[in-house]
This record gives sequence, C-alpha cells and structure tokens, in this order.
Amino acid sequence: MSAPSKDFLPSLVGSMSVGAAGNPTVEMIEAAFAHHGLHYRYVNMEVTPENLGKAVAGAAAMGFVGFNCSLPHKVSVIDHLDGLGESARIMGAVNCVVQRDGQWIGENTDGKGFLASLQAITSPEGKHVVVLGAGGAARAIAVELGLARASRITIVNRDRSRGEALSHLLQESVLVTSCYQPWDIPFTMPRDADILVNATSVGLYDADARIQVHLDSLTADQVVADVIFNPPQTWLLREAARRGCRTLDGLGMIVQQGVVCLDYWTGCQADAGVMREAVEQALGLNSTP
Ligand code: NDP
Repeated sequence: MSAPSKDFLPSLVGSMSVGAAGNPTVEMIEAAFAHHGLHYRYVNMEVTPENLGKAVAGAAAMGFVGFNCSLPHKVSVIDHLDGLGESARIMGAVNCVVQRDGQWIGENTDGKGFLASLQAITSPEGKHVVVLGAGGAARAIAVELGLARASRITIVNRDRSRGEALSHLLQESVLVTSCYQPWDIPFTMPRDADILVNATSVGLYDADARIQVHLDSLTADQVVADVIFNPPQTWLLREAARRGCRTLDGLGMIVQQGVVCLDYWTGCQADAGVMREAVEQALGLNSTP
C-alpha cells in the first residue's frame, strides 16, 4: 500500500483544568493554528486533581508536545514534571508544560504574558512598579518584572502575611528591591512610582467594581495595568485613562500568554491580533457578527 498523500495526524497540545468548559483559550489557540497553517490541535480537557498524574502520563503516551494547566493544577502538576523554567521555579507554579528532549518542562506564562503586553507601551527596566495583590497572578507578574530589572517593586495587599511573603520572595530569589505596604483605604499611588498593576480579582465580571485606589493620586505620566480580562475596560482603567494615564487591559496579557505558549510548542511567532480577535469573539466582547 502506498503512503498516504495527506498527514491525518496532528500534533497535540491542550489544557488540563477543572471548570474547563468556561475556558476560552481553545478558541484563541485554534485560531492561531488555522491562521498560520499549523497542523496542531488544542484539546480542552476536564481533569480532576486525583486524575492529574494519569492525565499527564496519558498525554505523554499519546505524544502530546505540551499542555496548559490551570486551576487547581498549577502547583500540583510540578510533581509530575522533569524540570522547571527559571521563573516557574521561583514562583513554584506552572501553567504551561513543554516537551524538551523527551522531558516535561514546566513554564509559567502568566508573568511573561503580562510583560510582553507591557513592553508594547513601556519597558519596566529601571521603573518603580506598584502591584496590588499578592495571589498567583501578582506573584507571576512581580517575579517577571523583577527578572526584567524593574528597580523597585512595592507590594500592596489586604492580607499582610501574603503581601510580606511575596515581597520576601522578590528580595531573596529575584534580588530586586521590594517592600510590602499595607493597603490603606484608599491606596495612594506614590508620586515616584511609574507603573500601577491591579493583580487582584476586583473587577472580574463587574465593570463597575471599584477598587480602593485614590484616583487623584494617579498622574498622566504613569501607566496603569489591570489583569482583569472580562470586562477588559475595568473601572480602574477607565478612570486612569480619564486622568491621562496610559492603560493596559488583561486581555493583552491572555493573548500574549498564547503567543508565548505557541512559541514553546511550535516555534511559530503567532499573530497576536488574530488571537485577540478570537478571544474577544469567544467572550462575546466583539460586536462583529
Ligand atoms: P488569587 O485568589 O490567588 O489572589 C487574589 C488576590 O486578590 C489576592 O491578593 C486578594 O487579596 C486580592 N483580592 C480579592 N478581593 C479583593 C478585594 N475586594 N480588595 C482587595 N484585594 C482583593 O487569584 P489570582 O492571583 O490567581 O487571580 C487574580 C485575578 O487575576 C483573577 O481575576 C484572574 O482572573 C486574573 N488573571 C488574569 C490573567 C490574565 O491573563 N489576564 C491570568 C491569571 C489571572 P488577599 O490576599 O488580601 O485576600
């Protein structure tokens, strides 16, 4: 029998999480595969914590070249991997797994996606950045900002112990100047700070949710970023823009994470515009029919 003229076997990647049905990443990644003519498929998979080890072994057996993992697997997946990239090791959390030389290597794209999105408007190098929040997103962003040579990172969080722990991590593992500042209500942006990042969950699914920030402390030379992607135009971003600040929404961070993952898995530099349009469509943010 002669060899088939068409290759019916795509390379496989995907996502393992709980609550997979609400994750639009598949639409964004598949749009990039189609746009760039990549013979890959992204499979969105519901995986419970007790099945994570079997799922990772199954992915290896089926020849997956990588996969994303989202909540609740970002920390526990590390037990099933062969190694970690630098920032994932510092953060102790993985959301993107890559096959390298037959080994599963864990990376974390949360902070890398934020950084790529930020770098489109300004470099963090030498800048004083204030991060609101000390959860997983804040940790990933702050570590990457430190690795990108921000001069100082101030962590502001309601819960003191989480805030202090992140600040210590930055000082000890990233060797960046950092301090924890209690969240006085409302938070007043220091005059010498260059960038404010909301890395809390305030604003998720609520365009009018008000974060406790003294808006008149924001000045037009400052950049204000938000991790919230739905809705992308949060109350904080709208108010910051009214005061002349340059703003950055959380959708850019998601899209740039997709770009980083595609690069890891395929070596392709994906078109961020195609991916943004796909994720906006998937979230119903795009009025295009
Ligand atoms: P975590 O649960 O790990 O952390 C939540 C953080 O928000 C904590 O610092 C918490 O403070 C703070 N917080 C919650 N409610 C309030 C409030 N009312 N006032 C002040 N602070 C508050 O969540 P993650 O870090 O994983 O995620 C945070 C947000 O980032 C989510 O909305 C998520 O959707 C978004 N995200 C966006 C990504 C993107 O690509 N755009 C990627 C990853 C996450 P405390 O410690 O005091 O409780």
